Amino acid sequence: MDGFSLKARAISFAFSIGAVAFILAMLAGLDHGADPRRLAISVIVALICGVMSWAAAENAIAGIAAAVDAAAGRVIGAAQGDLSTPTPAAVGEALPDLAEALDGMFRQVRANLDAVHALAMFDSVTGLANRTSFRREADRMLRALPGEGDAALFFIDLDHFKAVNDTLGHAQGDQMLGMVANRLRAIATAEAQRAKAGAEPLVGRLAGDEFTLLFPESGGADGAARIGRALLAALNEPFEIAGQSLIVGASIGIALRPDHARTLTALMRAADAAMYHAKSSGRGQLQLYSDGLGEAIAGKVRLENDLRGALDRDEFALLLQPQVSLGDGQVVATEVLLRWNHPDGVQRLPDAFLATAEDSGLIIDIGNWAIEAVAAMAERFPRSGAAPRLAVNLSPRQIVRADFFVRLRDALARHKIPLNLLEFELTETVAMACGDPVIAEIGRLRADGARIAIDDFGAGHSNLSRLRRLPLDRIKIDESLIAGIADDAGARGIVHAVVNLIHGLGCDAVAEGVETDAQLGVLRVIGCDAVQGYAIAKPMTEGDYLSWADVARSAIAL
Ligand code: C2E
Ligand code: CA
Ligand code: CA
Repeated sequence: MDGFSLKARAISFAFSIGAVAFILAMLAGLDHGADPRRLAISVIVALICGVMSWAAAENAIAGIAAAVDAAAGRVIGAAQGDLSTPTPAAVGEALPDLAEALDGMFRQVRANLDAVHALAMFDSVTGLANRTSFRREADRMLRALPGEGDAALFFIDLDHFKAVNDTLGHAQGDQMLGMVANRLRAIATAEAQRAKAGAEPLVGRLAGDEFTLLFPESGGADGAARIGRALLAALNEPFEIAGQSLIVGASIGIALRPDHARTLTALMRAADAAMYHAKSSGRGQLQLYSDGLGEAIAGKVRLENDLRGALDRDEFALLLQPQVSLGDGQVVATEVLLRWNHPDGVQRLPDAFLATAEDSGLIIDIGNWAIEAVAAMAERFPRSGAAPRLAVNLSPRQIVRADFFVRLRDALARHKIPLNLLEFELTETVAMACGDPVIAEIGRLRADGARIAIDDFGAGHSNLSRLRRLPLDRIKIDESLIAGIADDAGARGIVHAVVNLIHGLGCDAVAEGVETDAQLGVLRVIGCDAVQGYAIAKPMTEGDYLSWADVARSAIAL
């Protein structure tokens, strides 16, 4: 302690008390006159009194004061971070209660700090390393490997965890994550024993239902594949939760050191990419990273970046392809098809970029652009026989957005386009999957004059009773079903049955991808209502379409 210590103050205090006692004893002696004998006795008593009280005070107070000084020094040490040095013995001797309290307090603070540390490093649901500590520890493990030392990094994403969480609730979801963690730990432990490797495998939970494992000295691609199969098998076993037997399954991506990357960041990126690939190619799979996969992913990233600027650079365009009635040859609708005029000069078809636009969410902006462009185009069209009903393709991501229908109606109102100039196409798969609120909005569009069509019918799965309940006008038979009808009686029979089914649902049947006159002939006999395809016209620019429509009005005789 700076300045006067408590002990020094206690000594001077005790000294003062001794001095006061001495003076009081002296005064007591003086009270009895100037008798030298009594005076001498008083002096002696005063001296003894003073010395004794000084000594007693000095001993008691100074001992305690020394203990308090020591305790204060210890508290200051603790404040500077020292929570482990024991409380000095002097404190325990003079003030045992204080010593015990200090020890207890430091123990508690130490325990709290350990808990905070554990919370920061471990995931509280599974007890596994969290993202931060997984990264730190995995980085350390990778650095400790010899130059060509091998390691395998696994990225695991559960396939159907969301369904468990949504149906059983978060508490059961957490329970399942804990069980997943235990299975992963068990495999890591078994592997460590099998390989007798120096370093233990590391298991972590990155977030949600994503787990990572790092196996040092895993035995290259073969060893990693074996571990991967064990992980997949373990996660494919049912989980017994809340009296139910649940299968979640998982998609697993693997990246190897040194084959694919050396740093943790690069390995994690590669394993993540492999996992993503496993997921998108049907889930429940194991995928080892490869340079080809890396190239494909890099290409996708480039495509996404290119797409990002495409709207600003006004690179999208709309082509038009008519649908013609087989009854009277009239144009019954015109499908609007998206094109991307890439800066490299090669026009891209939707198949080349729509999936990436969907995955990245860019389809929302592109779809909004298309709606605006269709409304503007419809406004430009002559209000005569050439003005077609424009059929617009809607993407799944687009229609689930709450603001989509508001934007659509707003764009149409601004361009003064009534809904009876439009038709909306939804693929069979999307129509089967979308929820009741979306169906209700689509029903309102239809009630206000729009026509609703199911696209690509026969290419996906349909639930017929659901189909019957949807607000529909037309069903477009997928081109894959049409392709064989001219030469193959079986294909013809199927399309015939499909046309009857569509009529049974109260809808018009439209054949897509009709390329030949022979197909046209078959479709007319079968009773199909309308056709679209190269046999009528290829997708055209707006100007070409208007010229075509002018000529077609008089010339089409199917
Ligand atoms: P889809 O809706 O089935 O469109 C018909 C596709 O068949 C078009 O391909 C069209 O060019 C092509 N086609 C037309 N006639 C024939 C034919 O006789 N033979 C063959 N083999 N093909 C024919 P496209 O333009 O490449 O469009 C592909 C898909 O991209 C469309 O399939 C549609 O699902 C989607 N798509 C196009 N435009 C848009 C759009 O603006 N928004 C959204 N979300 N999707 C769009
Ligand atoms: Ca379509
Ligand atoms: Ca189609």
